[in-house]
Amino acid sequence: MKTLYLSARQENTARIAAEIIKKGGLVAIPTETVYGLGANGLDEAAVARIFEVKGRPQDNPLILHIAGTDQIARFAHHIPRAAYDLAEKFWPGPLTLILPARDFIPRRTTGGLDTVGLRCPDCPITREIIRLSGVPIAAPSANISGKPSTTTAEHVRFDHDGRIDAIVDDGPCRVGVESTIVDLTEPRPRLLRPGGIGPEALLEVLGDLVVDKAVTAQIDRDAVVKAPGMKYRHYAPQSEVVIVGGSREKAARYIRAHFEPGDRVLCFEEELPLYEGCAPLSYGQEADVNTLSAGLFAALRELDDPRIHRVYARCPVGGGVAYAVQNRLKKAAAFHIVDAEEEA
Ligand code: AMP
Ligand code: MG
Repeated sequence: MKTLYLSARQENTARIAAEIIKKGGLVAIPTETVYGLGANGLDEAAVARIFEVKGRPQDNPLILHIAGTDQIARFAHHIPRAAYDLAEKFWPGPLTLILPARDFIPRRTTGGLDTVGLRCPDCPITREIIRLSGVPIAAPSANISGKPSTTTAEHVRFDHDGRIDAIVDDGPCRVGVESTIVDLTEPRPRLLRPGGIGPEALLEVLGDLVVDKAVTAQIDRDAVVKAPGMKYRHYAPQSEVVIVGGSREKAARYIRAHFEPGDRVLCFEEELPLYEGCAPLSYGQEADVNTLSAGLFAALRELDDPRIHRVYARCPVGGGVAYAVQNRLKKAAAFHIVDAEEEA
């Protein structure tokens, strides 16, 4: 199969992409979070191809991307007031709402669940593709399962060239980590995955929020969890990743003392001078956490190299999107964290 490359700046891109979606094809779509591997979410055969191309476990549900708040009731029922409050405040944006699914939504799309994840992306070209195709677009992150997510069209090309119908290129993703997921199907709202919208901002609207244990700990493969995606090894390069916490100086002392040839250091731009000779790679500025979330997956992809033995990683502290960066890095590190303050 020849993969078609479409620029978001080209006039007819949305129309061509929508035609492919309508015919049951696969189109990699840009969003503000990460690039998604999109297909008609109501077409079982098209959705089956997403799972096949990604190598995704069947029980890992897909998010349905919709064009606006007015479409929530088309795909969900028993919608609490909180869903509209959140959508009003954060859509279009990096927030996915889990709601009871209407019966006509294929269970292949929802990973066999009776609930559905809905999101309206903050990306005009993708909303236009959804609108023109007339269907919700089911799209997981476009990476091959288990690999770091795709935040540029080039990442998608690397993983899927010749295996999908088209890639729509809208430049690097602004947020860079996947959407925040909130489950609204229980009496108390539950954070299933941190993302571009921080827990504090959610709390302000909801007044209550339970943080699911899958966010803060390693989940067993056989466990029954609310967000099935959270239990799989995720976001990780091939090498071992170790997060080193603590002050800049103590962390550098620890890493330099343990560094061996073949290791790499993933750090903040401000720290580069501290790691001369240790092959450091910066993923953004500690002073601007948005650059860290935007740069994280590109850096993890660069470090996805069998010749690298171990990666020592520095992780931002704090809430907001930093909470999502912490979550992704901890998953990449399988929760292997060293505190340089204690080790010193
Ligand atoms: P990805 O698009 O790769 O970020 O994966 C989407 C993630 O959304 C999945 O891994 C699930 O954890 C989560 N998700 C989607 N739909 C549901 C749902 N109905 N219930 C719970 N989690 C969901
Ligand atoms: Mg993913």
